[in-house]
Amino acid sequence: MNTTVAPLEFTELDHVPKGLLERPASALYQNLDGPTLIRIRGRNERPLVVSVLQHGNEITGWEAVRRLLKSHYQFDELPRSLVILVGNPLAAKHRLRHLDDQPDFNRCWPGANETDSVYTRLFRQIHDRLLELRPLACIDVHNNTGLNPHYAAVNRIRSDYLRLASLFSPKVVYFTMPSGTLSHSMSEFCPSVTLECGQAGEIHGTDHSLAFLETCLHLDEISLNPVDADAVHLFHMVATVYVDSDVLFGFGHVPADLAFREDLDKFNFCELPAGTSFGEVHNGSARPLLARNTEGADVTADYFFFGRGAVETAREIMPSMLTQDRRVIQQDCLCYLMERIHYEDNEEVTGIDPLPEGILRSDTPGET
Ligand SMILES: [Zn+2]
Repeated sequence: MNTTVAPLEFTELDHVPKGLLERPASALYQNLDGPTLIRIRGRNERPLVVSVLQHGNEITGWEAVRRLLKSHYQFDELPRSLVILVGNPLAAKHRLRHLDDQPDFNRCWPGANETDSVYTRLFRQIHDRLLELRPLACIDVHNNTGLNPHYAAVNRIRSDYLRLASLFSPKVVYFTMPSGTLSHSMSEFCPSVTLECGQAGEIHGTDHSLAFLETCLHLDEISLNPVDADAVHLFHMVATVYVDSDVLFGFGHVPADLAFREDLDKFNFCELPAGTSFGEVHNGSARPLLARNTEGADVTADYFFFGRGAVETAREIMPSMLTQDRRVIQQDCLCYLMERIHYEDNEEVTGIDPLPEGILRSDTPGET
């Protein structure tokens, strides 16, 4: 039987619908019934692309765009044209990352592993339309869970990309996996970043991304001159850390096999020296944690030492996404481990690509 599935379409508008800026993310569905591009002309014609709500529960981007347009758009012209992509207003209505019958939108852009579907076709169309508009840069705004600082992620190591990221945060993460992300698909054509703005609903995240968007709208260009090594601290993910499923664990002074320190998540995005303790090991589990590299190989001994009744780091390392949420630890992982990329060694090359030796592919340490 030959079933044909109706193609999905996106909407393109050259104005902000009346009343839209009054609506929180959860009410946008009243004006927008799916992915929508909103083009707003500014003095400099070449647009900045800003993507919000690819994940319907990550509202910071929309809150920032809304405030930006309330302060500018209604009274004067923007310094540069803006293209806003509102990704998933239907999921936002239900405060969900995506609906049950939808895929994760930020896995469907060109380059995705996923096979041909109505969604990959839809996002290919949006992608091609964005390219026609010749954006100066592409910014995709996200939130994550846990106590993590704000950071920007890039998918290519080039001076202009790093410079753009550094305008948001000096800590920058490089990733190429998972595939099918908007920022990766655009990064072949223009500087492109994913912003991780902390937890959804935090006013600080909105303030920070709003200030970043304002800065970007005022840029004349994004320079390819080498970035100052102090301006960008670049990291990539090297391993995922799991708690052994047989190990009883807890936080603080608890009678468990593995008692993590109470404030473990304050280590997120801190470069820890070798010998830093994550907590105490009781009852002699020889190896309470398991670290796997991006190929899945067991690399525990490279990163941890358990010989002194504690979980200690065996080399300098930076954890991210450490959480005290037991469910997340059991179902997903304890944390990711990140290492520095010394991009500055390649600085004599304009641009910096190709990658420093040994860094072939890297996963994002978050939810992106
Ligand atoms: Zn996200």
